[in-house]
Amino acid sequence: MKKHDYAQYCVGCGLCGAKCGQKMQKTDKGYLVHANEMPDKCVEFCDEYCPASQNSINKLNTSSVWGYYEKVHIGYSSDREIRNNASSGGVLSALAIYLLDKGLIDAVIHTGKDEKLPYNTMTKISVTKQDVMKNCGSRYAISHSLLDMWEFVEPGKKYCYIGKPCDVTALKNFLEKNEMLSEQFPYIFSFFCAGMPSTQANLELLAKLNCKEECIDLTYRGNGWPGFATAVDRNGNEHQLDYVTAWGGILGRDINRFCRFCLDGIGERADISCGDAWYLLPDGNPDFTEHEGRNIVFTRNAKGNTLLQDAVRDGYIIIEPIDDVDNYLKQMQKYQFVRRSTMSVKLLACRMFGMNIPYSSKGVVKELAKHASISDKYKIFKGTIKRILTKKI
Ligand SMILES: Cc1cc2nc3c(=O)[nH]c(=O)nc-3n(C[C@H](O)[C@H](O)[C@H](O)COP(=O)(O)OP(=O)(O)OC[C@H]3O[C@@H](n4cnc5c(N)ncnc54)[C@H](O)[C@@H]3O)c2cc1C
Ligand code: SF4
Ligand code: SF4
Repeated sequence: MKKHDYAQYCVGCGLCGAKCGQKMQKTDKGYLVHANEMPDKCVEFCDEYCPASQNSINKLNTSSVWGYYEKVHIGYSSDREIRNNASSGGVLSALAIYLLDKGLIDAVIHTGKDEKLPYNTMTKISVTKQDVMKNCGSRYAISHSLLDMWEFVEPGKKYCYIGKPCDVTALKNFLEKNEMLSEQFPYIFSFFCAGMPSTQANLELLAKLNCKEECIDLTYRGNGWPGFATAVDRNGNEHQLDYVTAWGGILGRDINRFCRFCLDGIGERADISCGDAWYLLPDGNPDFTEHEGRNIVFTRNAKGNTLLQDAVRDGYIIIEPIDDVDNYLKQMQKYQFVRRSTMSVKLLACRMFGMNIPYSSKGVVKELAKHASISDKYKIFKGTIKRILTKKI
């Protein structure tokens, strides 16, 4: 990717800021991205490590539309409190707690709420079960743990890192070139991600919740599955909005630009990656009504697979088999399936309008396109043109 493309497609993971001294700046929407001036050494750094780089795209696996995986299960935490409070079934938190309990790591580095400004996030370090539970749940807000997590990393200690797929890509790229540091991160987990909503979208959510000026707490889901977006005002009153309206109607409509071009919203580079394991309605669409939480759990290498099996054996996690897995995944995670498999036509539409595209439409993109139906391709092609014309992309 050429120099100016990083400016258009920076997703703000923060790695070049932390490890190459790249200056960062806030956009109007609240994203922290690299400043306009990018010295040559940082361009080279990003060519190697940035999640938006061609190098990162080339590392994706096209053996299936879901990338490489050893096993895929439905799963959930056996601890009712974790299962209820977490984003889906609490598998990520349960695994992190398992690693701490067994002494396999010293701490978990992940993302939680900024207590002072609940629609902001903070990078957190968790060393106990209580810490992990405090930071469980999805935060549909801007996060950039690779910028500031390094202050937590002490020599000789071992960590589990949990982050968005793009964060994990950048971290894995970096660790692959830094063997000693790599040994300090024996476990890396990720989750399915459809996009990072802006601060502006969060303020819109609070306005809709009628809690804009006086919000002292904000959760986006959880306390059930999917649970409600819940803001608490200064007087302790709760303001709620259902998940479909909060995500589909507000947050998911205003995401970082690169998210629209993200080929890895499924955590391919992690040891274990989880998403929602929605039940299906008779018409084949996901059922977003309340149930007990469940994850879809992909073990993406032998290490991740062994860890999951051990956590199941020791009673931390319960797993269930999946019938007709290909069809189930395709229906239940339709957005991820379509985004990955139709990227070729999205890029084509952009090129037709003279836009710079973030990466090549050949190779990985072409391979993934084999999974898409003609009707999906047509819909996305038409939709992309509409977005370009209305300046929404
Ligand atoms: C921005 C975003 C987009 C998502 N898009 C999808 C999607 O398209 N499809 C889907 O199935 N699920 C999506 N999810 C939800 C998530 O993938 C699932 O809930 C997943 O199954 C994790 O569930 P869990 O119960 O195991 O997680 P938990 O046990 O609750 O653990 C969640 C972990 O994620 C970390 N985390 C939370 N928010 C952030 C953040 N903003 N940045 C970095 N780390 C964070 C927490 O620190 C915690 O360690 C999204 C979540 C987020 C934050
Ligand atoms: S490495 Fe991260 S912060 Fe730097 S340009 Fe890429 S996405 Fe942006
Ligand atoms: S959609 Fe992709 S690029 Fe955007 S935040 Fe999620 S993982 Fe990162």
